[in-house]
Amino acid sequence: MRNALIQILLPVSVLFAGGLKSPAEFLGYELGDYFTYHHRVVSYYEHVADVASNVKIIPYGKTYEQRPLMVAVISSDENMTMLDDLRMDNLKRAGLIKGKASGKKVGIVWLSYNVHGNEASSTEAAMKTLHALADRKNKSIQKWLENTIVILDPCINPDGRDRYADWFRMTGNRWPDKDPLSREHMEPWPGGRTNHYYFDLNRDWAWQTQIESESRIALYNKWMPHVHVDFHEQGVNNPYYFAPAAEPFHEYITDWQRELQTMIGKNHAKYFDENNWLYFTKEIFDLLYPSYGDTYPTYNGAIGMTYEQAGHSRGGLAVETEDGDTLTLKDRLTHHHTTGLSTVEVASQNVDRIVAEFTKFFVEGKKKPQGEYNHYIIPKSNNIDKVNDLKEWLDKNGIEHRVASAGKSVKGFNYKIGKKEQVRLNKGDLVVSAKQPKSVLVQVLFEPRTALVDTLTYDLTAWSLPYVYGLDAFAIKGDVKSSTARHFTSKLKEISGSPYAYILPWKGIHDLKFLAYLFKNNIVVRVSYEPFEMGGVKYGRGTLVITRKGNERHGHSFDEIVRNSAQKFGRSLKAASTGLVSKGKDFGSSSMRVVKRPKVGLISGDGVGSYSFGEVWHFFERQIEFPVTVLGSDYFTRIPKHDFDVLILPGGSHSYLNKEFLNELRHWVRSGGRLIIMDSAMDKFVDQKGFGLKKFATDEEKKASEDKDKERNLTERLKPYKDRQRSGLSQNAYGSIVKVKMDNSHPLAFGYDDSYFSLKLRNRRYAYLPKGWNVGTIQDSTAIVSGFVGYKAQENFRESMVFGVEEIGRGEVVYLSNNPLFRAFWYNGKMLFGNAIFILGN
Ligand SMILES: [Zn+2]
Repeated sequence: MRNALIQILLPVSVLFAGGLKSPAEFLGYELGDYFTYHHRVVSYYEHVADVASNVKIIPYGKTYEQRPLMVAVISSDENMTMLDDLRMDNLKRAGLIKGKASGKKVGIVWLSYNVHGNEASSTEAAMKTLHALADRKNKSIQKWLENTIVILDPCINPDGRDRYADWFRMTGNRWPDKDPLSREHMEPWPGGRTNHYYFDLNRDWAWQTQIESESRIALYNKWMPHVHVDFHEQGVNNPYYFAPAAEPFHEYITDWQRELQTMIGKNHAKYFDENNWLYFTKEIFDLLYPSYGDTYPTYNGAIGMTYEQAGHSRGGLAVETEDGDTLTLKDRLTHHHTTGLSTVEVASQNVDRIVAEFTKFFVEGKKKPQGEYNHYIIPKSNNIDKVNDLKEWLDKNGIEHRVASAGKSVKGFNYKIGKKEQVRLNKGDLVVSAKQPKSVLVQVLFEPRTALVDTLTYDLTAWSLPYVYGLDAFAIKGDVKSSTARHFTSKLKEISGSPYAYILPWKGIHDLKFLAYLFKNNIVVRVSYEPFEMGGVKYGRGTLVITRKGNERHGHSFDEIVRNSAQKFGRSLKAASTGLVSKGKDFGSSSMRVVKRPKVGLISGDGVGSYSFGEVWHFFERQIEFPVTVLGSDYFTRIPKHDFDVLILPGGSHSYLNKEFLNELRHWVRSGGRLIIMDSAMDKFVDQKGFGLKKFATDEEKKASEDKDKERNLTERLKPYKDRQRSGLSQNAYGSIVKVKMDNSHPLAFGYDDSYFSLKLRNRRYAYLPKGWNVGTIQDSTAIVSGFVGYKAQENFRESMVFGVEEIGRGEVVYLSNNPLFRAFWYNGKMLFGNAIFILGN
């Protein structure tokens, strides 16, 4: 059957190959003359697939701005006739699906271009590389395809790329101006690096909070390539960077993964030497944080690599470099084209070894996990929504999970207290085993502490999932009897009749979504500021109470709206037939506050961190679906602030805020406004008149700190020059996890326990608010739970306010020094932010 197909296909492909156009023939200009719009790139890829029988397009989704996402798959004609069998065989060898691989062994190389939209040469290279692979005249390349499947994603981030490409076309001179000071080399806020919501997609591989990543990883998991390359660009004066990567390597990275990186690097070096191009290896780009385009594939068994060309948005079409040379877009795309093909070449030469080592990675991983623990247990006593959301996330990553089929008492590491102790495993608890094909990925993501070889890294050093989700969990060494996991459900009770009120405990993001939805339907909701008891059930602070009273205008449809909304969000409402509680305050009490539907303004633009802004924007639009008005920092000082109930200043320098305007903001707060100041935006308010935010609690404390700095600076004068990079580490707190003590009687912390695990990203400390509520606090450096914190930075973990509320007149200022919405993956922070928006100040 297959042979017959080939006989039919071959003459056709030979005939069509004549119709293959080069990118220049198709586009009407030489590659490098312009930045090609994304839709033209897609058209070119479709053209090649139309005329070359060995190229197939697989669409995999759409961006937020509705641009198509797709890959091209290319191999030999023979391989293309059995593409799906070859794909499945690969998954079977890894044990990711059942069955025995029976077909031939092929290598799978996946090349991802332009994840950072303004690193724009690589999508141009992607067209050149597809053409080279599809060109039948090139016999040596056709030979590689006999044992290799190449998957090309010409643009991971089309929205960001077109933001840059559009801007450049609008801004660039008629003839490229190579003067680095010209406007065409100075991209304005927010730049094209990120996607529509200003998320860095090269930090989102594991979390998949963005539509582009979620869609892509679904396809990635169907293929599980052996080699993955993420093409980037860096500063205009840097030589080309390719593998092998820099330390720290995560300790689970295998010798083979290191070895093949080096072989590929040597092959690139050969081509670069022939052309006298400069390059470097083993510096800067490390392999640790699991959500990059190199580490994520690496923890999924591939050889994952980052390649960096000089250019970036400073590159334009041509730019003068510091050695007096001119770097052109043509140079940039030629280098990326060269390394792309060179990668395929090395893969093809080593297919047998690649397939054998890839198989070994999964089989050995399953048999003998490398780390200290074999199983990660999430007790079913946790909030069910959180457990289900974690399960959904595990599914997205192809990680198996099961439930314990018997209970027992075992020794294990308790995440919450950070110690080993005797723990109780119960039947029905969620079990994530390290004894599965994706063993390495599981361990990297669940281990309580990241195993660091070296600390000079580029990003976070802690991300352990139980802390991310705020789950009680433990890790154990021994084995666990388990069975296939089901969905955890809390039974949705049918409520009939017309109750006096509906009740919903306040526990997490789904309750927040439900509240936002009720607002859209104009339902009046109350929130309980005190705990109460009713019908033998205890309700905590923050519980939503939806009384018939106040909702009369909905008439009979009131019950229908509330019940349908509960159904939509899977909320288990309780019905109350009376407003009289058995313990606590009755429904008519003043501690049952009406939740006002807030009009929210969010500041964007120059002076605002685009990531931080984007995280808040994404939270409103995509996570809770509640309207937010985006304001520009260039006109913010002129707007009528009284139109808003809540104003949010995301992280950033907020350089547009002068003293008079801070004073105006304070007046607005006094008259009932709520100002939410996040992250680095707080620095603008330290020691400012009318605001209680201070770096030091007292003058003595300030003096003692300055004296200490002075003393240390003296000793540091004698540090050797060679240690300059490393000594900077002592001041860093690279995304560590800290345990914050919470006052959960305050509305900002409603729904939380008395502690909250927070991601600490900056080495900055704020003293306790002298007049105000210190809702989340850190007492000392024992709060550090996981990740790297330099010894000087540790001194800042003393008596500090992390989350606080200062009441001014009828309004309040909310300080969130650790960003609870960071990269949208810190799941347990979302409700805290929701409290600040909806629950506070009622
Ligand atoms: Zn990049």
